[in-house]
Amino acid sequence: MPNNRLCIICDMRKSESCFERKGEHIVPRSLGSRKLRTPHVCRECNGGLGTIDIALKNADGVMLACYDRDVGGARSGRSGNRSAKNSPKNDDEAIDIIKLSAPRPKPFEENPDIKGAILKIAYEATHLRLGNDWLRDPITVTIKNILFAYVNKNKTIAREHINSINIRDINIDAFYYVINKSRSELIKRAISSKSCLNALWIIPFKTETKTDGDRLAIVYDIEGIAPGYVEVGKSTWGIDEAELLAPQL
Ligand SMILES: [Zn+2]
Repeated sequence: MPNNRLCIICDMRKSESCFERKGEHIVPRSLGSRKLRTPHVCRECNGGLGTIDIALKNADGVMLACYDRDVGGARSGRSGNRSAKNSPKNDDEAIDIIKLSAPRPKPFEENPDIKGAILKIAYEATHLRLGNDWLRDPITVTIKNILFAYVNKNKTIAREHINSINIRDINIDAFYYVINKSRSELIKRAISSKSCLNALWIIPFKTETKTDGDRLAIVYDIEGIAPGYVEVGKSTWGIDEAELLAPQL
């Protein structure tokens, strides 16, 4: 079989048998979002990125959100019984609730690998939307190096490079006001589909200095961690307004 499909993490062309038939989940399946998938990450690389997916899933706020929304049966099949949260049946569950009730640290301070998980989502989702031309953007090389370091279990390199990429907080209500969309509709949809992913957007944005020109960013709204954005392009790559990448409607 010819090696004709590009993996955007290891940068190698491989045969189709090296990829999941239906593609790999861009947002970890454990967060309840299943539809957004990429055919351009090989099985080997996806497996190597498991540690950052787990870091995001295990962030205290995300764990609580998954429990609240009964993602993947997080409430042990007692969905719909909201009082179950306050009446633990056994000691193990009681311990979990104490942990979940503790004050939440900022996610990236809690564990820098959570930042890696956000970068993975941003990188794969942007490529899915823009295609291989976008891989020429200088910013993609940096993100790819971080993700490839995770695949190679080289956490030292990954964490060194990760400091060169900023993930910034966003005033999410102001964001939805500016793009004139309803956040509450997306939240309702996420709750009813038992997902912690409220929304993933790709947007053009203006930098503070005029000379830098317009840039491209991914805005993520994941229940349980502070919403934020990460720059994914040194230009807008033809995106002229906010586009919803997930959930796919
Ligand atoms: Zn690969």
